[in-house]
Amino acid sequence: MTNGGLGYFVDRVTLEFSTLKAEKDFSKGELVLDLSAAEVLAERDYTSIDLGDSNVYHPMGRYINHACNPTSYVDADRKAIVAVGTIKPGDEITFNYLASERQIVAPFDCACGWVHCVGRIEKRLAQPSESLHDMWASIRKRIKRNAA
Ligand SMILES: [Zn+2]
Repeated sequence: MTNGGLGYFVDRVTLEFSTLKAEKDFSKGELVLDLSAAEVLAERDYTSIDLGDSNVYHPMGRYINHACNPTSYVDADRKAIVAVGTIKPGDEITFNYLASERQIVAPFDCACGWVHCVGRIEKRLAQPSESLHDMWASIRKRIKRNAA
């Protein structure tokens, strides 16, 4: 739980590139960003976050970048961004777009630098009906393939 501050801030790296970073500790499973009151968009765009049955816009959430090995994930049931593991102040808040976005509006080449980076981010790895567990299993499978 946060006590006071939001717990995160936008780091404007360049004019074109910003990231969202933690300014406090988050523990595994902790809610990082509440999306329950986020604006529901009529159509997805490159800033929206896919909650399974809707695409929402959050003024801070829009700065969350993709990472193949992310620090958080989209929990559609909780309508929130949730920590995958421990997040320390200064760590970037990321989620794997391929795990939850039903469609990648603006495909791009990932440069997260992770040894198992999947590279091109353009196609979702799982069907919407799959559980979060299955999505991660699917990602792990693809990561294994790329690493082979
Ligand atoms: Zn990557």
